[in-house]
Amino acid sequence: MKIRVLGCSGTIARDCRTTSFLIDDEILIDAGTGVGDLELSELIKIDDIFLTHCHLDHIAALPLMLDAVASLRNTPVRVHGLVETIQSLKDHIFNNQIWPDFSKIPSINKPFLQYHPLNIGDVLNIKQKKIHVLPATHIVPATGYAVKSIKPETNYWIFSGDTAHNPDFWNTVNQMPIDALVIETAFSEQEKNIAMLSKHLSPSGLEEELSYIKSSKSYPIYITHTKPAAINRIFVEVEAINKRRVCAQLDPYDIRWLHTGQVIELPII
Ligand SMILES: [Zn+2]
Ligand SMILES: [Zn+2]
Repeated sequence: MKIRVLGCSGTIARDCRTTSFLIDDEILIDAGTGVGDLELSELIKIDDIFLTHCHLDHIAALPLMLDAVASLRNTPVRVHGLVETIQSLKDHIFNNQIWPDFSKIPSINKPFLQYHPLNIGDVLNIKQKKIHVLPATHIVPATGYAVKSIKPETNYWIFSGDTAHNPDFWNTVNQMPIDALVIETAFSEQEKNIAMLSKHLSPSGLEEELSYIKSSKSYPIYITHTKPAAINRIFVEVEAINKRRVCAQLDPYDIRWLHTGQVIELPII
């Protein structure tokens, strides 16, 4: 299973794209601005889009990518998300004002876009993948996802989505065999108050979250959703987590940094 990082930044700037991961060329997890780097021939292949929540940095490219492929596809693009996420898309994006209602165009029977509501805890089998809908704690209803390939079998790739302190997430993922975890750290400690108000993590929040890991086998932990203006500070503060662990004679976490265009291939050796 290949996870292509189309965007992993908290916002835009040159070379910074917002959240989007393409799994085996067919399934998109979030539709941030990174989707705009795909060729038309790649956009056409995407049948399923799983959204973590309705915030703009996670859906920004959705209206335009649907427009790009609409006349070239024979089947609707399936957009999966919480009921609240779908309702926000209907009310605020595909409302025939900001953008056309592609769930009724060109006809209700054969639309360009089909909504598929999800609940936390759902498990879906789509395109030889098993996808779990994980809890997230954010300022709007939100999810994370755990994805594994069924054939060939891999362990799980886990994505936290946008989240603050999230014990239910750990209760679930600690039961899963994991190949890689992608977890957000949107703000530096300097902006910890904003992180708390907007229900994101700063490095001290990340450190607390990682302390919930129960697995005896270490797995790569990729940091995502960093704000470009704070990336250097976040980097130093996240690296300090491992320095403290080494001082306390604990094994350091296998912390890695995501970048646009990176491909994570499971299983990771
Ligand atoms: Zn958000
Ligand atoms: Zn976000």
